[in-house]
Amino acid sequence: MSAPLALCVVNRDRRCLAANERFAEALECPLDRIRGEDLNSLLPGSKEFVITALEKAEGGEAFNDYELPVGERGKVFLASAEAFRESGVLTGLSIGLVDITERKRMAEALVEMEKRIAFAMESANQWIWELDIPANRVRRSSHWKSGLGYLPEETIGGAEHVAWSVVHPEDLPQVLKSYKNLIDGRTDVFEATYRIQHRNGTWLWIMGRGRIVERSPDGEPLRLLATSVDISRQKRTEQELAATVRRREELERELVATNRRLTALSEMDSLTELPNRRKFDEVLSREMRRNRGHSPAMALLMIDVDQFKSYNDLYGHPEGDECLRKVAETLSGCARRAGDVIARYGGEEFAAILADTNEADATVLAGRMLEAVRSLRIAHSGSAMGIVTVSIGVTVYELPASRHDYMPIGNLIAAADRALYSAKQAGRNCIVTSSVDPSGALRTAAVTESGAPSPPKHIDDGDNAHG
Ligand code: GH3
Ligand code: MG
Ligand code: MG
Repeated sequence: MSAPLALCVVNRDRRCLAANERFAEALECPLDRIRGEDLNSLLPGSKEFVITALEKAEGGEAFNDYELPVGERGKVFLASAEAFRESGVLTGLSIGLVDITERKRMAEALVEMEKRIAFAMESANQWIWELDIPANRVRRSSHWKSGLGYLPEETIGGAEHVAWSVVHPEDLPQVLKSYKNLIDGRTDVFEATYRIQHRNGTWLWIMGRGRIVERSPDGEPLRLLATSVDISRQKRTEQELAATVRRREELERELVATNRRLTALSEMDSLTELPNRRKFDEVLSREMRRNRGHSPAMALLMIDVDQFKSYNDLYGHPEGDECLRKVAETLSGCARRAGDVIARYGGEEFAAILADTNEADATVLAGRMLEAVRSLRIAHSGSAMGIVTVSIGVTVYELPASRHDYMPIGNLIAAADRALYSAKQAGRNCIVTSSVDPSGALRTAAVTESGAPSPPKHIDDGDNAHG
């Protein structure tokens, strides 16, 4: 078996004095042809090595790991030389050779492969960087630098080698959190999205991903290999999209608000700002449906300004409008309970829907309205009292005897109208209350002045004097 190392001894003239089998194999030359031969003819390019090695040997130094030129055979050797002495005198060198042809070929292939990988990553716009974890120092590819507008030899932001120094301060906490998760072994992958600054001052959005590629024998992470991708464009698109979504939501809100305003306007009387007839009809039918099978009953009040035609004639239409506004405000001030609705029914006539209200309470409220309008003390020389007054018809929607015996809306309104007509007949500035059965037949009616109850009195059916 040959020695593991190819060995030979040369004299000071570089002549081979002795060599082992391994040496002959390495040089692909028979052993007997080696003896006495000039080493430089056996190993072209070795002359320089021997001269230097001899010089070093004179000084008592060895000469190690010299890469010998490849020569014609395409091989590469790593040569080491030591002094060879006879009786203490330096007579030559003992030379050892290691064939590193294969190792060298692999190293070159590796470099080539790394170049290809780098090229592929650059083509995919990925930048490579590497972190020395114990030292907390980072090494970046030249492509990484050019992506940020720097030349390969330039430093970035003055603190290029310190890890994370280029990260936007606002993004740093979550980057460090992701890094710590990796170091502590909670995750296998470092992954973070953050900003780093381009040389021109703008911030680029980066998606960084990496893994531990080297650990110490006891498992401590030593090296992080990572790539970064510029995702600024995606981020911009994302932000634009978010802004568009926000704008859309705003528009939708505006639209809803506008619709609400329009609905409110379409349900409001512009002169008095009370709910209009349309809204009144809607509320009344809703209340009547809701009231089915419920007690107490619902009350309906019809309120009409007395002698208003003559008020207009005496004081003019604009004054008439002003008077209606005041009356409207006063009436709605009287009925403030949730569920009370005061509407302008038409012309100088108002209507009140009072949910869950019996006849006695409705009459009390009507009395308050009567008094409140009088208290305005709006001069009206055409009226009996010399001031503006109202007449009120009150009716109450009673519970039907049978569940299928519901009163039609029209009957309720007609009953209230008839009660109002009765109040006008009774001399105005008063209240008439009435009850109707589901068929619409007027049962009882009572005239009240100033809201004070008076004995019930039967009222004749008659045509509406208004509306
Ligand atoms: P009564 O006591 O019987 O109710 O008599 P009246 O004069 O009030 O009743 P009539 O129905 O004869 O007249 C109502 C008047 O109300 C006629 C109309 O010009 C007036 N009117 C209706 N709407 C408005 C309005 O919006 N503004 C003004 N200024 N007047 C109105
Ligand atoms: Mg009137
Ligand atoms: Mg009228």
